[in-house]
Amino acid sequence: MQTYSNSVYGESVETPEHQEIFNPATGDSLGLAPISSESDVGSAVNAARKAQPDWARTSDQERRDAVVRVAQVLEENSEYLAELITREQGKPLSGPGSRFEMQASVGWTQVPAALELPPEIVYEDEERKDTLHRVPLGVVAAIAPWNWPLMIAIWQIIPSIRMGNTVVLKPSEYTPIATLEMVRLINQVLPPGVLNTVSGDGRIGAALTSHPDIDKIMFTGSEATGRRIIEASTRNLAPITLELGGNDAAIVLPGTDASAIAEGLFWGAFLNMGQTCACIKRLYVHESDYEAVVNALSNLAQQMPIGDGMDENNLIGPLQNKMQYDKVKDLVADARANGCEIMEFGTVPDTGYFLPLTLVGNIRDGQRLVDEEQFGPALPIIRYQSLDEAVASANRLDAGLGASVWADDPEQAQQVAVRLEAGTVWINQHGAIHPMVPFGGNKASGYGVEFGLEGLKAVTQPRVISIKK
Ligand code: NAD
Repeated sequence: MQTYSNSVYGESVETPEHQEIFNPATGDSLGLAPISSESDVGSAVNAARKAQPDWARTSDQERRDAVVRVAQVLEENSEYLAELITREQGKPLSGPGSRFEMQASVGWTQVPAALELPPEIVYEDEERKDTLHRVPLGVVAAIAPWNWPLMIAIWQIIPSIRMGNTVVLKPSEYTPIATLEMVRLINQVLPPGVLNTVSGDGRIGAALTSHPDIDKIMFTGSEATGRRIIEASTRNLAPITLELGGNDAAIVLPGTDASAIAEGLFWGAFLNMGQTCACIKRLYVHESDYEAVVNALSNLAQQMPIGDGMDENNLIGPLQNKMQYDKVKDLVADARANGCEIMEFGTVPDTGYFLPLTLVGNIRDGQRLVDEEQFGPALPIIRYQSLDEAVASANRLDAGLGASVWADDPEQAQQVAVRLEAGTVWINQHGAIHPMVPFGGNKASGYGVEFGLEGLKAVTQPRVISIKK
């Protein structure tokens, strides 16, 4: 059985403890992932600390070149890593699956390499000149989730190293192998200590985020863990970028052509089996269009091949883990018990954590499947009578990551979009993130943004040089 290891100061580091990782589609073993100890966390942070001053002293151009080399390594190893993602995380190779995750990882590496954040004159008169420089923070702790394990790790790693920080990354304990392999490959083109890993569960995440030598925390995951990380950061005062869960509402405006929007709505809700932070998790449809929208989505759902993602014909895979599988089943069972209409599509294999694609009708605000983040392939479709009511519904929860408005007329949609409380409101698309466009949550979905120039600023600290003339 293959044993995988952490990377610290450019070396492969063994741990005495391991956990076996299984394919969520087949139950097959993938190998043994390391479990770090708290002293391993200390060693990884020390390695990053040791490497950081020299890395920060490299020129901007040298760091850009290094990030370009990382993009090349990702491209060269795309197929190997995509297959590992499919075996470990479950998303299929095809469609918006693991090959797509690798393409995105390459793109999110190339774009920060191309961006510039030069010093900025913020004030000047006859007597003084004040220039704002962006300097690295130091050592970044990056804590990643299991849904898009490589892409989200890249979101955390690349801007950090681009701006002169060094990184200690902890992948999710559900999906460590593909991420550790990616880091091993990337480290072939980075100086020792710039990118290090630890692995294990929340205990190791807590040891990392509370370490006194951490200068910045990048976290993507659940709201509950986000709150614990804020508490942990009182030990090091590290600023945090918090990308937390969402419960995104989509509103279809009255009279919208259902056939034109069905595919966008479908993938907006079922991307990665719904295990995506900014998926449509509640769909609000005017009562006059309800049947047309349900029919259009049903037609698409029944055509989707479900099964092991290593088979290139399949577009829908399993849930990633038993916890998530049980949670989605429980929410659907609750809706069923409360008289909702459960519409299930697809032939589900006997092995693995597969669930049918599920549309849930005759459901209202206040029911668990609407109010709780399902993070799975079960979409509640709620009828509304007036737009004011739909906007109030969309805004009534604490979550505020994304939202979307769907309409034949984008101008009309815009008037509704500005009323929605979310970090991004999409029109006639959902979850359409882009490496140049800042992305982050409002309300309980977190704070701080990633991507683009704003994302680079978030991994630096401002330093003003003020000259008397
Ligand atoms: P999670 O919070 O359970 O775990 C995320 C990571 O935090 C894991 O690596 C875990 O080991 C670690 N962790 C757990 N306890 C910790 C602690 N006390 N201190 C430090 N680290 C700790 O989340 P998950 O189940 O892996 O991810 C799913 C959630 O993430 C969903 O709510 C989803 O919406 C959200 N998410 C948000 C975004 C975004 O960009 N906003 C993107 C993807 C996922």
